[in-house]
Amino acid sequence: MTTFEGIVLKERSVGETDKFIDILTKDRGVLEVSVKGAKKINGKSGSSAQLFAYSRFCTDIRRNMLYLNSAEPIHIFYDLRKSLSRISLASYFSDVLRFCVIPEKQNNDILRLMLNCLHFLEKGERDEAMLKAIFELRLMSEIGYMPDIVACRGCGVFEPEELFFSITDGSFLCADCVEGQENGNFMRVRLPVLSAVRHIVLTDFDRLFNFRVSDGTMTALSQFAEVYLTAHLERQFPTLDFYKTIIGQLSE
Ligand SMILES: [Zn+2]
Repeated sequence: MTTFEGIVLKERSVGETDKFIDILTKDRGVLEVSVKGAKKINGKSGSSAQLFAYSRFCTDIRRNMLYLNSAEPIHIFYDLRKSLSRISLASYFSDVLRFCVIPEKQNNDILRLMLNCLHFLEKGERDEAMLKAIFELRLMSEIGYMPDIVACRGCGVFEPEELFFSITDGSFLCADCVEGQENGNFMRVRLPVLSAVRHIVLTDFDRLFNFRVSDGTMTALSQFAEVYLTAHLERQFPTLDFYKTIIGQLSE
């Protein structure tokens, strides 16, 4: 019997009564667990194996497969369901994690990142664009794609007003150093965006969600984070397209 804590990232129905759930754990990556008679399980164990439930799971191993024995809820993010954009954004986070979390690895900070993002998303206490940018950039750093945002890689200047970030290299050049660089897929970024990226990537976890930027900077930061993640993971996420459709509709 194995016991672990984690959050349900995905549910898949199997037949009439069973389902598989993918659980992001602290130190074992994403685990697939079979839930027999899922539709019959009521009460505590039922809700604690639902999508976005953060629970303590007790499982049995048979033929290399994990079977849910019982589950105790720690926090169930019910209120995400009250908003289509919130639940869509949370689904995008789940998809990214299922794609890039390495099995059997220490994922404490990744689990913490997901739980914190869902907490603020559920409460509506932070801008969705901000949570999305934090999730994307901090996750990329945790899994080994931390952008090199300390200084211009040409001359070492720390705070150029305007800089040119190479998405593929993950580093930047100032306006002087970028001159004459014909090729290279550069994204033009202003200093406030660089400062926000530095905060997200480098700050202690306790202060991660505490920063403010102007609307214009948020728009640029949001675009930067999404392009960076998509380019490095080399993958499109349908849940992201769906989320963008939803917020597009909502802002009309
Ligand atoms: Zn320079």
